[in-house]
Amino acid sequence: MIHMKKTLLLGISTLLFSSFCLAAPKFNDKAIKQLQQNSQQSDLAYELVASLTTEIGPRLAGSENDLKAVDWAHQKMTELGFDKIYKQPVQVRDWQRVSASLQVSSPYQHELNVSALGGSISTPEQGIKASVVRFESLLDLQQANRQDVEGKIVYLAGKMERDKTGESYAKQVSARTHGAIAAAKLGAKAVIIRSISTASSANPHTGSLRYHPEIAKIPAAAIGVSSAELLDRLFSYDKGVEIALNIQNQEQNWKTSYNVIGEITGSTTPDEYVLLGAHLDSWDLGTGALDNGAGVAIVTAAAHAVKQLGQPKRSIRVVLFANEEFGLKGAKAFAKQHEQTLDNIVVAAESDFGAGDVWRFDTRVAHSALSFTDEILAKVRHLSVMRGHNRALGGPDVSVLAKLGVPVVNWLQDGRDYFDYHHSQEDTLDKIDPKNLQQNVSIYATFAYMVANSDINFRNQQDK
Ligand SMILES: [Zn+2]
Repeated sequence: MIHMKKTLLLGISTLLFSSFCLAAPKFNDKAIKQLQQNSQQSDLAYELVASLTTEIGPRLAGSENDLKAVDWAHQKMTELGFDKIYKQPVQVRDWQRVSASLQVSSPYQHELNVSALGGSISTPEQGIKASVVRFESLLDLQQANRQDVEGKIVYLAGKMERDKTGESYAKQVSARTHGAIAAAKLGAKAVIIRSISTASSANPHTGSLRYHPEIAKIPAAAIGVSSAELLDRLFSYDKGVEIALNIQNQEQNWKTSYNVIGEITGSTTPDEYVLLGAHLDSWDLGTGALDNGAGVAIVTAAAHAVKQLGQPKRSIRVVLFANEEFGLKGAKAFAKQHEQTLDNIVVAAESDFGAGDVWRFDTRVAHSALSFTDEILAKVRHLSVMRGHNRALGGPDVSVLAKLGVPVVNWLQDGRDYFDYHHSQEDTLDKIDPKNLQQNVSIYATFAYMVANSDINFRNQQDK
């Protein structure tokens, strides 16, 4: 009896001890403080984004610059002492803009800046001259009658509002992605959109569009916000608006680009890894400083900061995805390549929302792991980060992995200024505040360090 009691007591105390361990893994607080201090004082992220935007510049997927950026990333990771660096081939479209012009001929004459949407076909060489039919939203266009649209140029005039999370962008962006399909369905000759932007500028903001295999392809372009407001005033005369639109683009055969992957190899369980993602490609109008040079710099500098403290137990993989802008091709190739080993990804995070400071932490992890994410938050709370929800979708590339069951977190950045510059010629280095980059690096480094030095499982056990 006595013996049994002893065993029981021993059992209970082991249980208590292990559950205590589970709730509160021991972290080296001194190391985390050091990591954050190093990150807050380091210029590395700013130097990386300055180098990428100055020495390479715009990096449209499939372009010569895109391949230069792949070499650039490989070189930087080598210089920074990543343990393994490799490239993963990704097939990408080779689309390029050549020229674009837009003249308003009636009711008053104006010349407006215009840019083709990414992937748009060309107009005939002589352009298209037609009257314009205006819609407030994609939904209004989708509900319109064919006789009001046929033979005309559709103008989608929806406004984007300024907000912190990009909620309004998500609402308006379907005008850009699906406008050409909806307009062509009703027999339109072309479509122009008010840029999905918060800037008060004549600069057009580009971005990808979709075509439907069974619906005619028509040319599509964006005008700047101030040009859209001028066009709106021209409509108020009720005399009809007529424009001449000429867009010339080129598309060659598919090309090979690459995901660039850099690993800090774990000392205990090297196969398990924390994935930190960003994308290497950009649009062609600016130098892709915010979208997504900043993200590239943040995740690369964060992994480097962790490595400086010594080898973590699990690996950290920085994945610089190819071709995010033209349909997440790099992320899809990565998912396919790692189909059998997705379970090795402990958790994935992506930085792809410019260079604003992080203010909220969203997750999508098993309930049993929430106390651990609380612990991560506790370590970065002093950097002005609050808790969000547990329904995160991951950044654009990482969302492909989230759909396949990979646990994800989102470190939400303040995006109030992001859409002033996003996808336009104004997406340049001068929009980046180096202090904000340091805050981002500090947070990503803390997150990667804590996960890589734990044995926490973010997945629901029943999924295994
Ligand atoms: Zn992006």
